[in-house]
Amino acid sequence: MDMISMRNICPAAKHALLCFSLSGLVFIVSFFSASCLGFTSELWALTYWGPALYFCLLNFILRYSLKGFTYDVAVRSAFLGSVFATGFYFATLDNSCHIFGLYAMAFSLFHFSEFLSVALTNPRTLTVDSFILNHSVQYWVAAVSSWIEAAVEYYFFPNMKTVFWISHIGVIMCIIGEVMRKSAMFTAKTNFNHHVQTVKKDDHQLVTHGVYSLCRHPSYVGWFYWSIGTQIILLNPICVIIYTLVSWTFFNERVFAEEMFLISFFGSQYLEYQKKVGTGLPFIKGYIPDVDGSW
Ligand code: SAH
Repeated sequence: MDMISMRNICPAAKHALLCFSLSGLVFIVSFFSASCLGFTSELWALTYWGPALYFCLLNFILRYSLKGFTYDVAVRSAFLGSVFATGFYFATLDNSCHIFGLYAMAFSLFHFSEFLSVALTNPRTLTVDSFILNHSVQYWVAAVSSWIEAAVEYYFFPNMKTVFWISHIGVIMCIIGEVMRKSAMFTAKTNFNHHVQTVKKDDHQLVTHGVYSLCRHPSYVGWFYWSIGTQIILLNPICVIIYTLVSWTFFNERVFAEEMFLISFFGSQYLEYQKKVGTGLPFIKGYIPDVDGSW
C-alpha cells in the first residue's frame, strides 16, 4: 500500500520542487541581471515585466499540459517559488524592502515546505490542502491584517521599518520554528496529520522519541514561534501582540481537544507520557484528567 502510494505521490513532490525552483530561478535571473547590468529605463521595464510575463506564460503552459491534482500542485509551487525569489531579491536591498523581502521568503518557504514534508513523510494524506494555503478564513484575515499594519506604518513612520537587527531576531525565530515543526513531521511520519484525528487508525502509534521527547507538541511549538517570528520580521508591534494572543488561544484549544482523543486512543501510555514531558507551549497544560482517571 505504502509503496503504491509512494509511486503515485512522488511525481507530485518532484513536480512541486521543479516548478518552485524553475520559477524561482527565472525570477532571480531576471531581477539580478538588471542590477548587474545597471538600470536603464528599458531594463527596468524588463526586470519587472519579465517575471510577470513569464508567470503568465508558465501558467498558460501548466494549464494546458497538466490536469487535476498535478496542475494544482504545479501552479501553487510556481507561485510560491516566485514569491520566494522576489523576497530574496528585496531582502538584498538596504532599505525597508529588506524586511518585506525576508517576510515573503519566510511565508512562501513555510507553505511550500509544508507540502513537501507531507509528500515525503505521509503521502497517503497528501492533497492540495497540504500547502495549508487555505487553512482558514481567520488565517488569511491575520495575514492580510499584518500586511496592512506593515504598509500603514511604513507610510507614516518609514524609519520604524529599518530596525533590521530586531527583524533578524524574527528570522531566527522563524528558522527555529520551521526546524522544530519539520523535525516533528519527519519524526511522527504517518502519525502526523493536518487534521486532528478523532478515530484511531490501526497503524497510529504513540510517538515519544526525538523531538517528541523534548515536548509533546513540537509542531505546534514550531508554528507558534514561527507565526510570532513573521511579525517580528515585519516590525509590526500591534500584530506581534495580537498574533501571540490569537495563536496561544488557538493552540490551547487545539492541544486540549487533541489530548482528549490521544488519551482515548492510547490510555495510560499517553498519561505516562504527559507526566514525563510538557506540552512545550508556554502556560499550556493540555488535557489533564482527574487523578482518579475519570474525564
Ligand atoms: N500535536 C503534535 C502533532 C500534530 S499533528 C505536534 O505538535 O507535533 C496532529 C495529529 O497528531 C493528531 O491527529 C494526533 O492524534 C497526533 N498526535 C499528536 N501527538 C502525538 C504523539 N505523541 N504520537 C502520535 N500521534 C500524535
